[in-house]
Amino acid sequence: MNHFDYRDGVLHCEDVPLTRIAEEVGTPVYVYSTNTFRRHAQVFREGLKDVGRIHLAYAIKANPNLAVLRVLAEEGYGADVVSGGEMARALAAGIPAVDIVFSGVGKTRAELARGIDAGIGQFNLELEEEGVVLAQIAHAKGKRAPATLRVNPDIDAGTHAKISTGRAENKFGVPIDQAPDMFDRLAPLDGLDLRGVACHIGSQLSDLSRLEEAYRRIGELVVELRRRGHTITRVDLGGGLGVPYKAGDVLPSPADYGAMVARATQGWDVELMFEPGRVIAGNSGVLLTEVVWVKPGVTNPYVIVDAAMNDLARPALYDAWHDFDAVTPTGERMTANIAGPVCESGDTFAMGREIDAVESGDLAVFRTAGAYGATMASTYNSRDLVPEVLVDGDRYAVVADRIAAETILAAERVPEWLKA
Ligand SMILES: *Cc1c(COP(=O)(O)O)cnc(C)c1O
Repeated sequence: MNHFDYRDGVLHCEDVPLTRIAEEVGTPVYVYSTNTFRRHAQVFREGLKDVGRIHLAYAIKANPNLAVLRVLAEEGYGADVVSGGEMARALAAGIPAVDIVFSGVGKTRAELARGIDAGIGQFNLELEEEGVVLAQIAHAKGKRAPATLRVNPDIDAGTHAKISTGRAENKFGVPIDQAPDMFDRLAPLDGLDLRGVACHIGSQLSDLSRLEEAYRRIGELVVELRRRGHTITRVDLGGGLGVPYKAGDVLPSPADYGAMVARATQGWDVELMFEPGRVIAGNSGVLLTEVVWVKPGVTNPYVIVDAAMNDLARPALYDAWHDFDAVTPTGERMTANIAGPVCESGDTFAMGREIDAVESGDLAVFRTAGAYGATMASTYNSRDLVPEVLVDGDRYAVVADRIAAETILAAERVPEWLKA
């Protein structure tokens, strides 16, 4: 469910017509609904009501906008961060350090040190050596770093290869069969407070049985670790729950997910951590765009919009589908290809798609663009960096400025020896 609906024939975000935002802020622009973020945060929490002790850490890489983080902090969410930059954002948004989980396969020594100084609540270790180094850094500072060991349960999550993370050949986590011996070696280190294990098998997951199998393997690991005398107080179950990208798609709901978790983790007696990203942010945002041209094509016309692959990379990167709807539909339909202005054939959002009939100057949205949208934007083709707007009821604010191509240019310089 989301708060992007037609009223009197005009697509609104909550109580604000998107025509108004296009007029006042310009296009392309991401538009987020505060109350959709809030609702998703609440529905996810509610889905886990039958699971014992939980800690929710929003995976901020899905949408790290500072204002969005504020909303989720207000909803009681901590953060899952994957870089020093994300850690700084989470802290800037007022999320307590102790509620932050530091994930990521390439945390640098400097990032680990910053995390320890900040008092990060949990480091998810991706390899044994990282644990050794983290322990050394913390010990030198007279501290103990709270940590879990991320294991790779060797499960094919059944999602797009580029967002699958839980198969043995993926770069993430340590092989689950090696985890007990590694745990034996890491747990005694001064400077490390190794509390449990973590897993995250992929994103946009639509098949709960794969996740359940991963959790079952994690449960067996917890039993084995306790048998070896380790104290296990935390298990981090990661994120990954998918969202419907096409109208009519049905995916497992947070309630379905919560029921599975309750079943799979029965008797574990740990604090369970969750790192939802897409399921919170995906349907909370749209990318608002204007049709520049409708260009005749061989089979279908090309609708050329002013948003491009640099603003929304998912179709080019993952062949992803985003529903495309006119802001003021006439009721007429057309079959068209939808593409942006970037000079690559990959800058195509859809081919041969039946859509609302649009013409030059019309406004439209790509839906379900709240996750892995603006955060992946670039300035490729020397385009402006896309701005972001947050709506709350009948008010809105620009929460990330459009950064003009000229501003980017101003950060570049020609060295002395090349000057004319
Ligand atoms: C990306 C990521 C998440 C969030 O994934 P979603 O599919 O957006 O829920 C959670 N945990 C880790 C470690 C991640 O890398």
